[in-house]
Amino acid sequence: MERRSVVVTGGNRGIGLSITQAFVDAGYDVVVGARQKLDLAERFGDRVTFITTDVRDETAHTKLTEAAIGKAGVLNCYVNNAGFAEWRPIGEIDDEFFDKIMSTNLKGAFWGCKAAVASMTDGGSIINISSLAGKRGSASNSAYCASKFGMNGLTQALAKEVGARELRVNALCPVLIPTEGLIDALRSPFSPAQGDPHGFISKFAVEQAALKRLPTGEEVGAMCVFLASEQASALTGQCINVDCGVLPQ
Ligand code: NDP
Repeated sequence: MERRSVVVTGGNRGIGLSITQAFVDAGYDVVVGARQKLDLAERFGDRVTFITTDVRDETAHTKLTEAAIGKAGVLNCYVNNAGFAEWRPIGEIDDEFFDKIMSTNLKGAFWGCKAAVASMTDGGSIINISSLAGKRGSASNSAYCASKFGMNGLTQALAKEVGARELRVNALCPVLIPTEGLIDALRSPFSPAQGDPHGFISKFAVEQAALKRLPTGEEVGAMCVFLASEQASALTGQCINVDCGVLPQ
């Protein structure tokens, strides 16, 4: 069987780990770029190659694409997943915080897209893990929302730019998946959770989701494998909500 490869930034934990697992299960060679290796070698053996990466550094992305091509001979998919959420009212946002959230969530995805476009075979797929916060604003979340609206703009523009090469660029917009990162962010006094992250998430599911539940990392992983596949060959420039019907569009 022909080998296929994918790069997953932040594929060592949280939603990214579910994406890594989904691509391993689908038979891909996976290259993960993140700052900490964690237990990827124990979990996946040589199916997953880890490269220490800070997504804010443009050259780090080229190392990831080179590793994927070195392993499989070809790069089929690039998933820009690394990122973080942090609620802060505008008065609490300083230059350092703004730069950190924009350079991780948005600039990191730009450099990932640039490296992927430079090295991917025609017919490849770029997937940006955006957020429902890239579709609608919410209080004390302006910096994160701006970074994810930016990611959706990047997705739409780049799809038009590289479509002639049959490269497809799509974003997934999940809502509240209780990862370590989200729970930490919801512990902030500025978050809407009011000191009770799990209670907030349960209430949100019942009150806001058509399905009365919230999505899982596995469901995001399955969507990534689908978007990378031939079955999704007509899909590009889309920012798809993975939200159990919180925001029907
Ligand atoms: P986690 O905090 O659990 O994981 C964040 C991941 O990003 C880790 O793998 C981390 O690895 C990596 N990362 C963060 N900063 C950097 C950096 N500078 N360089 C390289 N890697 C980095 O978050 P989630 O799994 O919850 O979130 C993953 C993505 O999904 C994010 O983009 C987030 O905005 C998005 N999202 C999450 C939702 C949720 O409810 N959980 C909802 C909608 C979108 P390491 O620390 O080792 O570098």
